[in-house]
Amino acid sequence: MTVELVNTGSELLFGKILNTHQQWLCRRLTDLGHTVLRQVAVPDTGESIEQSVREALGRADLVITTGGLGPTCDDLTRERIAALLGRRLFPDASVAENIERYFAGRRLTVPARTVVETLVPEGAEVLPNHFGTAPGLAMQVSPNPFRDGGAGSWLVMLPGPPRELRPMFEQSLAPLLKVWFPRAEGFVCRTLKTTGIGESSVEERIGDPLKHLVDAGMELGFCARVGEVDVRFVGRGLGAEAQVAEAEEITRGLVGANVFGAEDDVLESVIVRDFQKSGLTLALAESCTGGHIANRVTNISGASAVLLAGYIPYANASKVRELGVLPATLETYGAVSEETVREMALGARRASGADYAVAVTGIAGPTGGSTEKPVGLVYMAVAGPSEVVVQRKVNAFDRETFKYLTAQQAMMLLWKTAIVA
Ligand code: ATP
Ligand code: MG
Repeated sequence: MTVELVNTGSELLFGKILNTHQQWLCRRLTDLGHTVLRQVAVPDTGESIEQSVREALGRADLVITTGGLGPTCDDLTRERIAALLGRRLFPDASVAENIERYFAGRRLTVPARTVVETLVPEGAEVLPNHFGTAPGLAMQVSPNPFRDGGAGSWLVMLPGPPRELRPMFEQSLAPLLKVWFPRAEGFVCRTLKTTGIGESSVEERIGDPLKHLVDAGMELGFCARVGEVDVRFVGRGLGAEAQVAEAEEITRGLVGANVFGAEDDVLESVIVRDFQKSGLTLALAESCTGGHIANRVTNISGASAVLLAGYIPYANASKVRELGVLPATLETYGAVSEETVREMALGARRASGADYAVAVTGIAGPTGGSTEKPVGLVYMAVAGPSEVVVQRKVNAFDRETFKYLTAQQAMMLLWKTAIVA
């Protein structure tokens, strides 16, 4: 069973908006055990829509289009697909009713042009739109004139706005897929999140030990991000579950110290979760990251139970005033030094009363470096109840990457010190 997606919308090809449907639909379809083989984005012109749908129907068991179901002159999907398949369009009373209800609820009169949204191609099923006016449409194309041998396909049209498409997929299309394709093959996808180790090193360590599983058909994938490498196992068919579980166990055995989570975990969510679980509190003293760590930690629900305070002591004077760093330390060793970061962490811990404090100080660049202290040099420290751990790194990148990577390393140091140790 194969799926192809046709995302319509000239704005996708102008680069004005990101094609989030592509990612979201591929992910949900994959979760449900369906294989997306191809995806195209096409402009709003009738010709492009017709051509791409005809081609997709020539190959796939299921074709899903997105966008172009609205009332404006550039919304041509419904009309052009009906024409392509030689189906007449009939007004549907239940759709008209939904549209009237939608506008009445907003105390607005129904715009005349929305009448096109009530049109349903012969033989098509309506997927109700609970968050807008244009319904989705689903139909069987059988026999399929565009496919060698004429094997039937399914064709589904979904509306463009994500807040309409996503609930429609969950509420209407996902149940239909179970009916249309009852024997979706077993599919298991597991992602382990690692940090502090490069992708080639991960592969070097786990490649051979996992070879027998890969030879047996399991997919092994890596995705490198800033300061993080995802390791992905994909199993298909009957033994998928066992294969992926074995791969996870082997991997954790070999690089477990670098695995901080799985699936959608990020370092900040793992820290908030684990600190909350252990009843621990946190303070941050961020010079060179300027509050980036605090921003990420406070993006996580539950942060208020964990984070007591964040300081941004950018100037030397505020390192002294807010955190009690000794002027002599700054003078002797400089702001970017092991001695200063240690005092910053101790000061933040003392000032906030938190169990753990993280401090970072560094040279983001592009100016301000020297031979002794190059651009990208950063010191980070974690002060806990019994000790202060300091780490030195050189992250010579643009400022944004520098801040992101430094935050990753500092959070990893925190997690290892406070939770793993
Ligand atoms: P409408 O009734 O709003 O016109 P529609 O079904 O005709 O809906 P489009 O006009 O193609 O859909 O798109 C409407 C809006 O939905 C776009 O402006 C865009 O913001 C969003 N959208 C459409 N396609 C995508 C996509 N592939 N990824 C993300 N957003 C999208
Ligand atoms: Mg539109």
